[in-house]
Amino acid sequence: MKNILNLSKKELEEYCTANGFKKYGAEQIMRWIYQNRIFDFSIMSDVSKDLREKLDKDFYVKLSGIIDVKYENDGNGYSKKYLINFENGDIVESISIAHKNRRTLCVSSQVGCRMGCVYCETAGMGFSRNLTSGEIISQLLSVENYENDKITNIVFMGMGEPLDNIVEVEKALEIMSNGKFIGIAPRKITVSTCGLINVLEGFDINDYKYKIAISLNAADNETRSMLMPVNKKFPIEKITELVNFKKPSLHNKITLEYVLIKDLNDRIEDAKRIIKLFSPSKVKVNLIPLNKAENSFYLKNFERPDNFTVDKFKTKLSNAGFTVTVRFSKGGSINGGCGQLKAQTKR
Ligand code: SF4
Repeated sequence: MKNILNLSKKELEEYCTANGFKKYGAEQIMRWIYQNRIFDFSIMSDVSKDLREKLDKDFYVKLSGIIDVKYENDGNGYSKKYLINFENGDIVESISIAHKNRRTLCVSSQVGCRMGCVYCETAGMGFSRNLTSGEIISQLLSVENYENDKITNIVFMGMGEPLDNIVEVEKALEIMSNGKFIGIAPRKITVSTCGLINVLEGFDINDYKYKIAISLNAADNETRSMLMPVNKKFPIEKITELVNFKKPSLHNKITLEYVLIKDLNDRIEDAKRIIKLFSPSKVKVNLIPLNKAENSFYLKNFERPDNFTVDKFKTKLSNAGFTVTVRFSKGGSINGGCGQLKAQTKR
């Protein structure tokens, strides 16, 4: 028996036709699961009885479990860090962030990560495995169920590099964004990468319906390679080539994520390099003053810049025409900010 959450619409359609049922049965089943959150095949009333009986023999529905929740409220909204476990006992973290009417869920795509970014806690765990599409979607279903509220935005910025698990991530995205199923608009979903340019090159980049965020984090190759080993394979020039080719409309500019680290990449000459490398018509910049996690070996030599430095950096880019946001990451005090995700309970 398999967990039906791991099947794409196409795979479920193939299952239906291979077993002598109408292809349309797949959509009916998926509506029950993802729209109505009904997980008992026997009460899916518009699905034929024979198909329901067959489903009962071949599939089950199993959501991920929530084993711990940490809560933080900064006065403007809350963030909740969930420790989530799967059928085999593996654990990941997901963060939900509430701000005004927006409920953003930061999902994990892998158990651990093999990219080795030195400012990132997940990197210290090493890599265990890719999550299945069902395990990715399950994070959303479990958190919505727990909070009794709808998630409005998704960011793939939890544990793992989503483009390193692109097949399962694409399957999950399809179900999350399908208006007949979970129905989160693609422009409200961000796929974030440390810069796996080979995978991005495989996309129709001008027509990619989800938002893309690339972690830049340094504007020279020496610093970037030190922070992010991926830069040795895909240096900054590869990012500029890809981004400069893009013909963005107002809403689909690529976001460059930039973790600001004191005296390392927060100087005005770093901002000037960004201005030289990128065009404000192609990218937005999101500055993230470093979150320093407690007891972090990886972050011990790095400090967060002061607010004056952050502001100077931002102003330099803004004056050059860039749209710049500063994300004083929510969830810092519960180690749930960017680069702080690490499953803290071992099985
Ligand atoms: S920042 Fe992202 S890509 Fe880099 S090690 Fe951490 S999880 Fe992996």
